[in-house]
Amino acid sequence: MNYISTRGNNQKMTSAQAIIAGLADDGGLFVPDELPQVDMEFIKGLTKLSYQERAARVLGCFLTDYTDEEIKGCVERAYGGGKFDDAAVAPLNIMEDVSVLELWHGPTSAFKDMALQLLPQLLSTALKKTGEKNQVLILVATSGDTGKAALEGFRDVEQTKIIVFYPENGVSRIQKLQMVTQQGENVAVTAVKGNFDDAQSGVKAIFSDREFNAKLNEAGVSLSSANSINWGRLVPQIVYYFSAYADLLKAGVIRAGDEISFTVPTGNFGDILAGYYALRMGLPVKKLICASNTNNVLTDFLTTGVYDRNRDFFKTISPSMDILISSNLERLLYHVTNDAAQVAEWMKSLAETGRYDVGAD
Ligand SMILES: *Cc1c(COP(=O)(O)O)cnc(C)c1O
Repeated sequence: MNYISTRGNNQKMTSAQAIIAGLADDGGLFVPDELPQVDMEFIKGLTKLSYQERAARVLGCFLTDYTDEEIKGCVERAYGGGKFDDAAVAPLNIMEDVSVLELWHGPTSAFKDMALQLLPQLLSTALKKTGEKNQVLILVATSGDTGKAALEGFRDVEQTKIIVFYPENGVSRIQKLQMVTQQGENVAVTAVKGNFDDAQSGVKAIFSDREFNAKLNEAGVSLSSANSINWGRLVPQIVYYFSAYADLLKAGVIRAGDEISFTVPTGNFGDILAGYYALRMGLPVKKLICASNTNNVLTDFLTTGVYDRNRDFFKTISPSMDILISSNLERLLYHVTNDAAQVAEWMKSLAETGRYDVGAD
């Protein structure tokens, strides 16, 4: 399986290369060039397995250039060893008509742990596989959860370093304490005078400073990012959709083949997109329900076909959903249309006018 850009520049990469690169050269996101298919036997087979074993099976469908041993090692280091405070890692709390998938049992108590415990392992393995000699320096701007989860995930992971920038007065006291007390030899945390946008703009300026990047390269360092534009951050999330279904089967709440729906609080569209991949692979999904807060740019898009970020921005009690540009939607548009040129046009329009229209259909 190869990975290609949503904007169609004909770059072809292995998953390891795509995870190291993060973003395609044309600014697009990496997507698999075919969607793996599983059958009901595959899904039934998951019921008897631990979360780690389920993860290895699902990841194996996408990371075809990693050996089984490599995937097992990554999964064990991410989810094993008592790092999660529940042996099931992502236990399903089954109630009468609805069940709750508990994604907060990781080391930082943020849902982000599900992906950010595994991404560093996939990246570090990718560096070894491809013979990359540079150290990878991860830069993260955070409004709270992501910073701590990324620090904890990359802590003491070989060949990587991480620096997190947070707005001096823009995170909660607990989040600040979580970050500034981070342990590990390869981690650093910096407060920024300003708000989250200032922190993010600063990080983007570092990424796009060619002269500075060349200097870093001479010193054996490449920059990379840990947010969900990276395939290695997205792919771990596909696992728990299968795991939830397997748990319902195992409990006898559903029968093999029954369709279930998922409601997903959405910001950057990473989590729900992972559910879409599960659906396209053959998981019996009835509906994926995209839940927004007042910043409901996605609700409007899904109901009208018009994506328009030219609107007021509201600060809410769910800051991880306060997002007006949902990066991963680009991947959905690609898979729905299979038309990279069209996606590139919409993304150009988004960058230039803050708006694009995919039509009512
Ligand atoms: C990150 C996050 C979200 C949004 O997830 P996306 O993958 O960005 O859509 C929602 N809720 C919480 C608590 C989060 O941490």
